[in-house]
Amino acid sequence: MAVKTSEHYLRRARAMKPRVYMNGKRIENITEHPVTRTVVEANKASYEWAMDLQGEGGRLFRRPSHLNGEPCNLYNTLNRSADDLLQRAAAGLYAAEHLGTCIYRCVGCDAFNTLAATTFEMDRDMGTSYNARLMAFLRHVQAEDLTVAGAMTEPRGRRDQKMEQWIDPDLSLRVVEKNDYGIVVNGAKINISGAYASDWTIVLPSGARRPGEEAYAVSFAVPNGEEGMTYICQYTPYSAERELAESDRELGNPRFGQRETSMVVFDNVRIPWERVFLCGETKYAGKIVTRFAQVHRMVCGGSCKVGFGKVMIGAARLIQEFKGLDKVPHVNEQMTEMVTLLETVRACSKVAAIEGREVVPGSGIHFPDDLLGNVAKLNIGNAFWRIMALAGDIGGGLIVTMPSLKDLKNPETREYVEKYLGFGSETPAEEIMKVTKLLQNWTAGLHGVGTWHGAGPLQAQKIMVQRLADFEEMKRLAKEMAGIGGRKADPGR
Ligand SMILES: Cc1cc2nc3c(=O)[nH]c(=O)nc-3n(C[C@H](O)[C@H](O)[C@H](O)COP(=O)(O)OP(=O)(O)OC[C@H]3O[C@@H](n4cnc5c(N)ncnc54)[C@H](O)[C@@H]3O)c2cc1C
Repeated sequence: MAVKTSEHYLRRARAMKPRVYMNGKRIENITEHPVTRTVVEANKASYEWAMDLQGEGGRLFRRPSHLNGEPCNLYNTLNRSADDLLQRAAAGLYAAEHLGTCIYRCVGCDAFNTLAATTFEMDRDMGTSYNARLMAFLRHVQAEDLTVAGAMTEPRGRRDQKMEQWIDPDLSLRVVEKNDYGIVVNGAKINISGAYASDWTIVLPSGARRPGEEAYAVSFAVPNGEEGMTYICQYTPYSAERELAESDRELGNPRFGQRETSMVVFDNVRIPWERVFLCGETKYAGKIVTRFAQVHRMVCGGSCKVGFGKVMIGAARLIQEFKGLDKVPHVNEQMTEMVTLLETVRACSKVAAIEGREVVPGSGIHFPDDLLGNVAKLNIGNAFWRIMALAGDIGGGLIVTMPSLKDLKNPETREYVEKYLGFGSETPAEEIMKVTKLLQNWTAGLHGVGTWHGAGPLQAQKIMVQRLADFEEMKRLAKEMAGIGGRKADPGR
């Protein structure tokens, strides 16, 4: 069967031997290291959900393969209708609500869809056979129920220079050799979610490419830990805290942690032709980037971050109740504002899915409405900071000043901590502290910047809104009403 268990994935993850570094040290075992194992746990959850045939998980995370009708994990399938897009958005929301971090198969899924449409178009236009290669790869990924990460973002050189002016040509990933076997690539991808614990990574170009930039118009799939690949992990105060913790229970998100990424370095990595999906066709690099953004902004912006927001509001609501603030009007108004902001974004994402359509005729691949997907991401980029501020207000200063949960265990301090951090309520201090720690994770951590930049910083969406908004139609309506052109407005109105 094409849907495998989480134990299946765990066995593969244990066998992975990528070169992973964090905070100056090599990580030998990604399934046991306190930080990297959170990525493994999140991926495992995606297998557990798909196995939950009686529950919501089974409904959201299973979908038949369009290649052979076999049930597959949603993340290894293509969106072939507006209903599929609705399922994809709902799954993103569910994953975020339950993980409070990335589901690390998300970018890979959106990369598959992007490439499925674009390789179809390339083959149609140029007589290439990229689509068949991609489908052969997808068939393998589906059959084994493999995890696939996606890598687009690159270090890049100075933004005010053309690529050929950069001091180092590897600042964008490029093809340095082509031979009978395939291609050899050099460069790096940055901020890549979960790649070191994924079976494969799909690499996409990071931007539009012009004639002369053929070496940079490249897309391919690469297995975990291929020779020449090094993963250098992010390291934050949250990583240090997790390393120092005596138990995960002391942490804000015990099982799943932060959104973990790494810089993935490609040092003369060999990729066989059968896994190359773009190589030099500059015209299609920009299309890949735009289509990826089209699907990813609906999910990453419009449903995933709504899930995060719901957890944040839930934690703030609990603290409101612990503190006896249930009936305080301004706090309830803050609650209303947070819910309204989130629901507005969720609506944008949902309608983006409903209004989705086949972008490349004949490809069968559906993409969300581009304007609404961008608006969803744009809105959450701003709304998330506001929700962080409001939840932080309700949580109070303790969010950033609270002693450690270890002080609750230490016999020399336990009595004081229990007495003074229980808010004089029925709720044990330990529970209040755990919820406060959860809120610290959301309001005083990495998620504000992460939400802003994930799926592209807000200026990228503003450019798209400018491009996609039908200003001509709006002008026509205004003119008509003002009676300055076209059909005259009814003077009697
Ligand atoms: C938690 C997290 C997870 C992520 N996961 C992934 C992943 O799995 N795969 C992946 O590929 N990427 C991933 N990303 C990367 C993410 O998509 C990028 O961070 C985002 O696109 C912004 O790119 P950047 O970080 O290079 O910032 P920059 O592009 O450097 O942006 C910084 C600022 O500079 C401005 N700017 C940049 N270039 C120009 C220009 N040419 N002209 C004018 N203004 C400019 C931007 O508008 C912005 O204001 C992740 C990011 C985060 C935070």
